[in-house]
Amino acid sequence: MKDLQGRSIEYVRISITDRCNLRCIYCMPEKGNDFIPPEQLLTFDEILRTASCMAGLGIRVVRLTGGEPMARSGCLDLISKLKRIEGIDRVTMTTNGALLRGHIEEALAAGLSSVNISIDALTPELYAEMTRGGNVEDVLECIHEAADAGLKVNLNVVPVKGINEGELEGLALLARDMPVDVRFIELMPVGCGKNFEPVRIDEVKRRITAFFGEPEADDDFHGMGPASYVKPHGFTGSIGFIGAVSHGFCSCCNRVRVTSDGMLKLCLNHQASVNLRGMMRSGCTDSELTDVIREAILNKPMEHGFLQEVEDPEFRCMNRIGG
Ligand code: SAM
Ligand code: SF4
Repeated sequence: MKDLQGRSIEYVRISITDRCNLRCIYCMPEKGNDFIPPEQLLTFDEILRTASCMAGLGIRVVRLTGGEPMARSGCLDLISKLKRIEGIDRVTMTTNGALLRGHIEEALAAGLSSVNISIDALTPELYAEMTRGGNVEDVLECIHEAADAGLKVNLNVVPVKGINEGELEGLALLARDMPVDVRFIELMPVGCGKNFEPVRIDEVKRRITAFFGEPEADDDFHGMGPASYVKPHGFTGSIGFIGAVSHGFCSCCNRVRVTSDGMLKLCLNHQASVNLRGMMRSGCTDSELTDVIREAILNKPMEHGFLQEVEDPEFRCMNRIGG
């Protein structure tokens, strides 16, 4: 369906947990974290019901995220059920890879359409530091397994000033040697992300070009996201750039989010949301649920407003929102 700005909304990111096996420095606080009590999480039936109403409104793509989606048991089973909903064409996942490792065949059998795997450093010590304890070998194994199995793989890299700037070229090389796309995503000033400085996406592009030479433009379709892609000479995959803050892409935003506690969130940087869990648990009908979702989507905020004041800025860390 189209919102009141004329944008086609076809994509929902559903966070299925705010918990994670890692604690990335810009995503989660080091200690403590008021995790959502299990009874407040949407059940899988509630997620399926929500997705089904959304499919009726024209949502075609579902991405599972978190926290770490694979940290919630039954994640792959949920994928296979989402995939069977009429109107849903693609079910994808964003993951840190560690818990997906060893389960790629199951994920493919469940119908996973593609996977985004996050990896911010190749140097083991730095990866461990940025994720507060992660093992980069686990992620690399997952990436190889997924690519070898023929699953479409995108790698997400968030460049953080003074922290992983020296890793960017090495990470980009993964797209030279393997059939994967590497996408650089500008750090967003959301939650713990506010404690760090981004490397602006133009600067990342400049460095990649300086290192690999002027790339060929790459206008192939790479999915539902806002990245622009290039293909350096001799690369198997492509390099994507997502200027989430400095190159606002709100005018063509195609997505909404559902948080793990069942709030329909219309824009990353606005708290405004609709309590779908409350509605479902108060006994609403599917038609009432659909009407409320339609009305909320129609009124999706015009822009995230990271660079200006917004009335209801998001303050939660990204693991609560789903990225
Ligand atoms: N655990 C999974 C993972 O790491 O891929 C899925 C959830 S994570 C919140 C989703 C994506 O959000 C990851 O690629 C992560 O790097 C990114 N992310 C988290 N905080 C961010 C921030 N402040 N700015 C930009 N991206 C962020
Ligand atoms: Fe976990 Fe993903 Fe956040 Fe890292 S970015 S702490 S892996 S949810």
